[in-house]
Amino acid sequence: MIKKFVTQVQELFTRKKPRLRKEPKRIAAAEHAIDRELVSRNALRVCETLQKHGFATYIVGGAVRDLLLGIAPKDFDVATDATPEQVKAHFRRAIIIGRRFRLVHVMFGQETIEVSTFRALENPDRQTDEHGRVLADNLFGSQPEDAARRDFTINALYYDPVTETVLDYHDGVKDIRRRKLRMIGEPEARYREDPVRMLRAVRFAAKLGFEIDEATRKPITTLAALIENVPAARLFEEMLKLLTSGHAVACITRLRVEGLHHGLLPLLDVILEQPEGERFVMLALSRTDERVRAGKHIAIGFLFATLLWHEVLKQWKLREGRGEHRIPALDVAIDEVLERQTEKLAIQRRYTSDMREIWMLQPRFERRTGRNPVKLLEHLRVRAGYDFLMLRCAAEEAPAELGEWWTRFMESNEAERESLLAAPQARDSAAAPNRRRRRGRRGNGSSGVARDADGSASASANSDIAVPSSKGG
Ligand code: ATP
Ligand code: MG
Repeated sequence: MIKKFVTQVQELFTRKKPRLRKEPKRIAAAEHAIDRELVSRNALRVCETLQKHGFATYIVGGAVRDLLLGIAPKDFDVATDATPEQVKAHFRRAIIIGRRFRLVHVMFGQETIEVSTFRALENPDRQTDEHGRVLADNLFGSQPEDAARRDFTINALYYDPVTETVLDYHDGVKDIRRRKLRMIGEPEARYREDPVRMLRAVRFAAKLGFEIDEATRKPITTLAALIENVPAARLFEEMLKLLTSGHAVACITRLRVEGLHHGLLPLLDVILEQPEGERFVMLALSRTDERVRAGKHIAIGFLFATLLWHEVLKQWKLREGRGEHRIPALDVAIDEVLERQTEKLAIQRRYTSDMREIWMLQPRFERRTGRNPVKLLEHLRVRAGYDFLMLRCAAEEAPAELGEWWTRFMESNEAERESLLAAPQARDSAAAPNRRRRRGRRGNGSSGVARDADGSASASANSDIAVPSSKGG
């Protein structure tokens, strides 16, 4: 009787941890198609060195997933049974970092290999918040435990670059072949432990073109609100990964489908539901995707400036409507938007100052009288401001003529610039038809382009060639 009870309790206990698989499948080189050329020499060196000293050491996570898909990994993580101190001891340039979980950065020139010690699955001292989110967790564990606490099956693969063997604890290789994103363990519990996994699900599905397994997808709608409890800095990091993945358009589209866009950027849902806002944001994101895929640099401040621009426009317009002066109204609108935003998603200060400058430059591009354009060229951020203006023109929210004029002006020599400055008639007549057409479509009868000579005093409805109605059509 007692024995039976004990067995039942034991069963109950083991049922709570169905994720732990002690024996992995071993996939030999002949059975997988990992191209050795795509494996970082430095990651190989870290594995070789630690293995030579008797430590089990593997390339792990996203790098193995990408290698199996034939994609060149953007970085390499390594997992080992050596402690951070033991790892550090074997490399000339290595530092121990991290508080929540200590790991080692081993540096080789430009490349850093992140080496972490296998982590424990169940930690009796683990602290969680009232929704089950794990707050602090720093226990070392076995390799099977390390595998079980990773998020998706395709992210829980270990590759030994010396023997070229892949270790697969959770059928990740099968899921890669089926192109399925599947959570390890019980999805709802895993999302509660760490709500960021919902965003990761969307990012990987969009980036890899994988389908999210039904059981993995299902709890997301119900749990979406838990994103609000994630610390703002962590959310920013994850959003950054998502927006610079080269698949931002697909990610954002997917976020909306899963109902995850609330609480990320304020009113991202509202912005995307306005035709004007959606056109602008989607255009900005697809340009970003093109740049990432072409291996070009992405200016993060610029990117976030595009995402929040229509929020700024709305607040700006509102203040102007109340009779506030144009430039101070923009300044305060920016304060409001940034303040509200950083509560939820901690955009770092170095980016918010770029954003502010890009936004504040916009009305200055409208002032083509006197020496204003020449002065504007001296501004340190004029290029970013100009790129932003061009995006607004492409999204048809600023007159095409204005963008064309500035393109010519920026590309001209001094003499050509003087002649452009001396031909205000040509500019105005070219701008007017565009303006009329756009106004007309929105059912607002006003037309013509008002030049804002001093940039500060005109609060009239006509002065905002750069400020379309935020309500859209
Ligand atoms: P990317 O290509 O974006 O770098 P990745 O899978 O390498 O994708 P990382 O954020 O670099 O993602 O994380 C490395 C590995 O750590 C993941 O593959 C996964 O195994 C594990 N991991 C990361 N974040 C989590 C999480 N929130 N919950 C569980 N495991 C995680
Ligand atoms: Mg990674």
